[in-house]
Amino acid sequence: MENTIIYEHELVPYAPHDLPHGPYLVFAPHPDDETLGMGGTIALAVEKGIDVSVVFATNGEKGGDPDVRKKEAEAAVKVLGVKKLFYLNLPDREIFSTPFPEERVAQIMEEVTPSTVFLPSLQEIHPDHRAMTHKVLSFSKRKQYVYDLWLYEINRHGEINRLIDITHVVDKKEQAIVCFQSQLEQLDYKSNALCLDFTRGVTLGQGSDYAEGFWRHGFSPENESPEQAYSDHILKYHLNQGGRGAVSPGNENKKPVFRVFDSIVGIVARLKRAVSCRE
Ligand SMILES: [Zn+2]
Repeated sequence: MENTIIYEHELVPYAPHDLPHGPYLVFAPHPDDETLGMGGTIALAVEKGIDVSVVFATNGEKGGDPDVRKKEAEAAVKVLGVKKLFYLNLPDREIFSTPFPEERVAQIMEEVTPSTVFLPSLQEIHPDHRAMTHKVLSFSKRKQYVYDLWLYEINRHGEINRLIDITHVVDKKEQAIVCFQSQLEQLDYKSNALCLDFTRGVTLGQGSDYAEGFWRHGFSPENESPEQAYSDHILKYHLNQGGRGAVSPGNENKKPVFRVFDSIVGIVARLKRAVSCRE
């Protein structure tokens, strides 16, 4: 059989990428997600003179005193060099069930005019992280925004197609994380974040000890939706469900979800034939 396996470089990058174009707009569901998830990339961008703005969606009141958390976040992003902050004041853990503040977000988009928008990965565990991404994406579709979308990892690894080598700014990221004292008393978020980054460096080889992973997608009304592109990538892992080896002749150009449907139809037809043979 030829080409039946997906090679590792088709699943994960094996070389670091350049930073995308600024200005950047980073959506953080809670004050600390921006630093834990992509503090290194923010520090690198600021070093290169790229404007970085951060939107805090909630004040994280379920995880501590919101005033303390706000102060800690402001100290952390100051270490990273972020100058512009916005607050949406949504209730913690309720981003999904709370009406999206469209007018405010539209104002922010107008003020920042981002070339690149950063949102949490679609495979994040926390419901607010995923809700943030779904809400901003569906709002962006309605408004027909065009931007470079980069999904970042906060609490776990997800699918990625970009790696930013943060080795030379990892100390700065660590220094920023230390500002979240109230959170670090609850859990060792510093080790968690740096371990995720350390593991991300594995495909970059010697000299690149730490990296932050992202899923990049050109967001525009003409392009395939980021959710579809992301799930197509996940399906690559599954032979018989979109994996190249399982694509049957004449079925190659169909989207994986339809290929799966076709294969289910095929299985049902085979079962029916099997049953009729027994009768
Ligand atoms: Zn969070």
